[in-house]
Amino acid sequence: MPKRVLIVEDEARIAHWVSTYFEREGYESLIAGDGLAGLRKAETEQLDLIVLDIMLPKLNGIEVCRRIRRDSEIPIIMLTAKDKESDKILGLDAGADDYVVKPFSPNELLARARAILRRADGLTQELLTGGDIELDVSARRCTVRGEHVELTETQFSILAALMRRHDQVLSRQQLLDAAGIDGAEVFDRTIDAHIRRLRLLIEADPASPRHIRTLYGAGYTFRP
Ligand code: CA
Repeated sequence: MPKRVLIVEDEARIAHWVSTYFEREGYESLIAGDGLAGLRKAETEQLDLIVLDIMLPKLNGIEVCRRIRRDSEIPIIMLTAKDKESDKILGLDAGADDYVVKPFSPNELLARARAILRRADGLTQELLTGGDIELDVSARRCTVRGEHVELTETQFSILAALMRRHDQVLSRQQLLDAAGIDGAEVFDRTIDAHIRRLRLLIEADPASPRHIRTLYGAGYTFRP
């Protein structure tokens, strides 16, 4: 069952952007455009997570959060404005689990969401193995030839995407999407650079990589 996330945000562009990233990660998403609509959906829909903006028409995010908390322990991430330090405290006091400061990157929000959901449902685990490489997706942990290797969130997402569909070719665009990198500002080279760094981290001989292969003109593939 996909996780369901409710995004309560009146700025349609941001709501849509956030929803797109969650859906790319396999979530189902719902959007509410004001505080009252958000509260109503929180009460009537089956949800796993709520992303809640503070500045909302009709009912502000703090109040929405407070009312949801009267009878629900559902994980809530608040979106706060950069210059409003007090909002973070008010949000946490109202019962939010975490907050993300605007402007935020999709990767940051998704990482917070994953961490919170992991805490919320305890033991669900996704383990990917490919030859001498092991990825514990839920713990965001990478082990290569028995040794722990520190990967950035982007590197981890790219490697996980390749390993989930090993022996298939993934295009640079598919990898950008998997990594939550916004296509508008980047070039194919961005992925090439991430792959280069990944190979240095996981390949026994990065100069002639065994796992992450380049298919010229097509993209990359993972060989276990
Ligand atoms: Ca807003």
